Amino acid sequence: AKADGAGFYRLFSSQMEKSLQNRRHIESDLRRGIKLDQFELYYQPLVELQTGFVVSGEALMRWHHPEHGMVSPGQFIPLAEETGAIEVLGEWALKQACQDALGWPDHVRVSVNLSPVQFGRSGLVDMVKAVLATSELDARRLELEITESVLLQNNAANLEALRQLRALGLTIALDDFGTGYSSLSYLQRFPFDKLKIDQSFVRGLEMRPESLPIVQSIATLGKNLKMATTAEGVETQAQLDIIAKAGCTEAQGYFFGAPMPEADFRALLLEPLAL
Ligand code: C2E
Ligand code: CA
Ligand code: CA
Ligand code: CA
Repeated sequence: AKADGAGFYRLFSSQMEKSLQNRRHIESDLRRGIKLDQFELYYQPLVELQTGFVVSGEALMRWHHPEHGMVSPGQFIPLAEETGAIEVLGEWALKQACQDALGWPDHVRVSVNLSPVQFGRSGLVDMVKAVLATSELDARRLELEITESVLLQNNAANLEALRQLRALGLTIALDDFGTGYSSLSYLQRFPFDKLKIDQSFVRGLEMRPESLPIVQSIATLGKNLKMATTAEGVETQAQLDIIAKAGCTEAQGYFFGAPMPEADFRALLLEPLAL
């Protein structure tokens, strides 16, 4: 079935405005989708620039909707957050990702996105702890990606949750870095392991030279704070050359591979990547 994402979104967003009843319908659709196994995790490689190795796979959700075909997360994650279904969906994704990573070589980690809404729940740390224990995945192989909205308004409870999560032995990456309001203050409050440079700075680097000093500065910042820096959205050799020269430590993007089914990602790990 061909993806019908935009139409799906319009349908759902207009429904959402209508009534609580429709919102319940969306929520049950999401929950039914989880039960009926309609969700799948795709993986996109993160490549270490110094070695050319794939060092991680980012789990990115896909929904095989019976009527709307393949729906991308940009369409359903906001709805799942709005309805609260993200709690179940997020737990499913974490479990699935840890299980998938057990089938990969030990040096390859798995990166899982956490919604800010999941931080609103007091049980988040216990949930992650339980999933790690059940899956028996080494915590060091799990990276959680969060956006700075988690630390918005100096949220003490979320900060504490982040500290507890990191104490489990996993790593924390700050996603979409550079797109928020006061990014630098967050770096003072929490020792992130990685900064993911938002793709808006990487896109068109060849044509838009004003992005270059920003990417260079973030790479330097990461180096000085002993954090890895991942350039997101690398699509061309020219962009790769530029971000490597700027000092980024990792890259991710269509140049190396679009998000793909787990079996394809696992197969990719068996072949050396020529940089
Ligand atoms: P994100 O975490 O920033 O993920 C990167 C997005 O950029 C992905 O979109 C990926 O397919 C896309 N991308 C990667 N490389 C390139 C490139 O070279 N060019 C371009 N144009 N795009 C590229 P995707 O898979 O549609 O996911 C969108 C967003 O949905 C993610 O943004 C993330 O915020 C959210 N998301 C996906 N899966 C999950 C999940 O399991 N949980 C949560 N909470 N959010 C998720
Ligand atoms: Ca991400
Ligand atoms: Ca991102
Ligand atoms: Ca994003």
